[in-house]
Amino acid sequence: MPDNTVQLPFRQRPAVYADAIVRRCRSDLVRSLYIHVPFCNHKCHYCDFYSLVDTQGRFEAFTARLIRELGALAPAAGPLRTLFVGGGTPTLLPIDCWKHLLGCLHGCFQLSHDTEFTVECNPETAEAALFEVLVAGGVNRISLGAQSFHLQHLATLDRVHRPESLPRALEMARAAGIKRRSVDLIYAIPGQTLEEWRADLQQAIDLGTDHLSCYNLTYEPRTALTARLERGLVRPIEEELEVAMFELAGTLLEDAGFVRYEVSNYARPGQECRHNLAYWRQEEWLAAGPSASGHAGGFRWKNTPHLDTYLSHEIEGFAPVVDVEEPDAGRALRERIMTGLRLREGLDRADLQARIECVCPQKCGDFEARVTDLIARGWLVEEASVIRLGARGILFADGAASELMLSLV
Ligand code: SF4
Repeated sequence: MPDNTVQLPFRQRPAVYADAIVRRCRSDLVRSLYIHVPFCNHKCHYCDFYSLVDTQGRFEAFTARLIRELGALAPAAGPLRTLFVGGGTPTLLPIDCWKHLLGCLHGCFQLSHDTEFTVECNPETAEAALFEVLVAGGVNRISLGAQSFHLQHLATLDRVHRPESLPRALEMARAAGIKRRSVDLIYAIPGQTLEEWRADLQQAIDLGTDHLSCYNLTYEPRTALTARLERGLVRPIEEELEVAMFELAGTLLEDAGFVRYEVSNYARPGQECRHNLAYWRQEEWLAAGPSASGHAGGFRWKNTPHLDTYLSHEIEGFAPVVDVEEPDAGRALRERIMTGLRLREGLDRADLQARIECVCPQKCGDFEARVTDLIARGWLVEEASVIRLGARGILFADGAASELMLSLV
């Protein structure tokens, strides 16, 4: 494909490929990479991520295609601070595929021992030989999809692993030398009690994890769980219990030495997920694999969310993209508020003010008045010119962000 495609405005191109965006990025700003592996053993009932089952015959084709894409993307990146392989279930890829992928990453990108290199892992796919290959390839962090330590709740979620596979997977990772081990948990599962949730949290702490993501169960459109909900086969838990579970996570984990550095994420000091912080801070990252989303040069985009299209269409290795959003200071401001407010570090008021003066100067007064009102209501607190969620606001993070954004309309 000739280079002049880069010159065409997106809306005039019959199909948009990531080359048109990525070649406009500044490599000194692009310091993160996300890779999406779209395979799973089984589709969990609550899941709306892009993942396919029964695709084992395509692991090699996918890996070869991914390697071509990574080769195309690499010149746009500086030395990587963070690299995250998610999915899907990346640990479902065969060891030989992982060896090729890791070889490509080291050959194309600038990785160092300072690069936070995370791989998502599902307990049923944990294997000592795979972990050894991952460690040899620079992986220094795993994120384990535990979700619950109770068999009946794993069954409600339609997860395939059993509770006893969780300590086994974490121990295997530790023995292989993966120092940073994060656990994902889900609460507000139908039938779950507060005491069961307390036991889940305690068990995750006792297993020596240094990072926990605790998400409430959400009923996403077009999932099997939502279909069961609509047929009356599952009953969501009461809202008061869900709030109690959220609050329990905060107190129990903070008593155990964790810091809630994002509304749903807890880490021991220094163990925050730097990759996710890059998302929440609106930094720049590249994206590879079907359905992976990128953000760089002011653009947002998503790779085609179809494996067949991803495998069969490419321009010099680049993938077709959808949902391209061109640079827009107004959108960047809204995103900054929406994600930045979820962080414990909060938002710098002077930075916000400067952005608002740029985008909608006539709204500066309205915004200041809304901040003052939210502080008075206990939703926000201000310290040293930084605003962040207060004890009450943490329960209404999205609501607080929406109120701030409404003041700009
Ligand atoms: S393992 Fe994860 S990505 Fe795969 S279906 Fe279950 S929740 Fe979704």
